[in-house]
Amino acid sequence: LRASLSVIQKETGFVNGLIVVLHDITEQEKIDRERREFVANVSHELRTPLTTMKSYLEALAEGAWQDKAIAPRFIEVIQTETERMIRLVNDLLQLSKLDSKDYKLNKSWVNFSEYFHKVIDRFELTKSENITFVRKIPKEAIFIEIDEDKITQVLDNIISNAIKYSPQGGKITFRVRELADEIIVSVSDEGVGIPKADLAKVFERFYRVDKARSRKLGGTGLGLAIAKEVVIAHGGTIWAESKEHKGTTIFFTLPLERDQKDDWYDV
Ligand code: ADP
Repeated sequence: LRASLSVIQKETGFVNGLIVVLHDITEQEKIDRERREFVANVSHELRTPLTTMKSYLEALAEGAWQDKAIAPRFIEVIQTETERMIRLVNDLLQLSKLDSKDYKLNKSWVNFSEYFHKVIDRFELTKSENITFVRKIPKEAIFIEIDEDKITQVLDNIISNAIKYSPQGGKITFRVRELADEIIVSVSDEGVGIPKADLAKVFERFYRVDKARSRKLGGTGLGLAIAKEVVIAHGGTIWAESKEHKGTTIFFTLPLERDQKDDWYDV
């Protein structure tokens, strides 16, 4: 907070008034600081894979390409890093779109139960055999108006994290609960968990509990930040609950907008 003072003086010299103007500069400063941090983070995140790729390419150029045992391994590293960079740039573009003011959701009515099953089915086909999926999704239809592509991205990010951080033989539970005016969707895993102090921070851009581990698993540190923006754009909320070494649950809500529907029926 910055204050400017003006003293109101009469010709006689007596002070008979005081104007205090308070400017709330903290908010603007916070935005500026966050923007600077974001740019620094992006630069760092891009430089890391580029530096790795450069040194592997140099080694190949200097003769490693002729070594049949080493060359394929080096090329694989370069490929993995390139793929992660592409993911990172795609995530950044996604966030920048979500940040822009004229951003619009492309909503349509879907039966959430059926839709959620379809999203999970896709992961069920590709997941490793030692992870079990448990679905606690109501049989009855739950109609809700969402941007299907965007919510699919939210679920993709949450589910791929649950798989990434699951131990061998772990169970992942998918739930949907229908309340009066919203649904609560959750994905629980039995993985490493998130320390209490980090629970809210994991939704911040580039925040990771364990940087090295996230990188090794191919993460960009933006998955949950994107999920948060999309859920908020839908009028919902997102949060995490976790017990270290026991598991994590990511919850998000989506409003049911029943009032609107009732209005239509009234007409
Ligand atoms: P990342 O690409 O690193 O996974 P996210 O934004 O998706 O980025 O997640 C941010 C961080 O939150 C992760 O790096 C990890 O530390 C933590 N995290 C997210 N989901 C889980 C989970 N299911 N179990 C444990 N930690 C998690």
